[in-house]
Amino acid sequence: MAPGSGAGAVSEPVTGQPVVISTWDTGLAANKGAWEVLSRSGSALDAVEAGVKVTESSINCCVGLGANPDRDGFVTLDASIMDHQFNCGSVAALERIKHPISVARRVMEKTPHVLLVGAGAQQFAVAEGFPLEDGKLSGDAKKAYEQWLKKSEYKPVINIENTKSSAYMAAPARLPNGEWNHDTIGMVAMDASGNLSGSVTTSGMGFKMRGRVGDSPIIGAGMFVDNEVGAVAATGQGEDVIRMCGSHAVVEYMRQGMTPEQACKAAVERIIRIKKEKAKDIQVAFIALNKKGETGAYAIQKGFSYAIKNNTEERMVEVKSIL
Ligand code: ASP
Repeated sequence: MAPGSGAGAVSEPVTGQPVVISTWDTGLAANKGAWEVLSRSGSALDAVEAGVKVTESSINCCVGLGANPDRDGFVTLDASIMDHQFNCGSVAALERIKHPISVARRVMEKTPHVLLVGAGAQQFAVAEGFPLEDGKLSGDAKKAYEQWLKKSEYKPVINIENTKSSAYMAAPARLPNGEWNHDTIGMVAMDASGNLSGSVTTSGMGFKMRGRVGDSPIIGAGMFVDNEVGAVAATGQGEDVIRMCGSHAVVEYMRQGMTPEQACKAAVERIIRIKKEKAKDIQVAFIALNKKGETGAYAIQKGFSYAIKNNTEERMVEVKSIL
């Protein structure tokens, strides 16, 4: 799929249950993981956890422990999960744990809290039996970090894919020169009972300030589920998604009667109004699923796509953009 070719494409509605959608090309493999659960009449919650765990496990992907580190050389991970009853859990700046999404689920199920961060999140994970990994950078991440260290230039802006080579679309992983500076997988699903759930997991922004947390673990920003209406996940410049509670806004637009695509577009337009001329420098995209099983997405910039899987199809959907 050529980068940017999504400008005129439409993500047509899909009806029928169950269905799973997730961000970027890595979503194809992740959807398969989710589908193993959904096709056996499992819950959407189990599906969105199983799905993004596939991505967290892939060593040279920019999600999970294989991801780019922060500017001090530590891989710090953010993740969140939410079910059909407003139960939610998240972790931020979690180090040396392979499956942040499962720790987020444990926060949801085993604590009275929603979000645990940093050392406390790791302590909780270890107490829950998650193995503490060695914390070494993966081969690709080490190369990318060494490359970045040469200039140590702090540029906290997420890549805009369409301005880069087609390698960005073909394989959303870092390029040898370390230019690719982020990746996230966001997933939303509906199960055979018609219940919705969502999950997001990410290393955030490569070479970020130590302690920087993006939108992904912030419920309502990086992901939100309202089982009466729909489920939404975000990707792109996290700070700008947090500022306007992006995923929550998309759900509210759908509540007002918009289709998933219209709702994602309205949220993206709102970010552009907030950012004014600076909008051209950032990428933000949303994916959404409503109670009818219709899906849609919208991005600020060209080059974004999402993966869909249901009973009848399994494919990438190119997404329209404003710019
Ligand atoms: N939204 C993520 C963050 O800002 C990055 C991404 O979507 O790749 O941390």
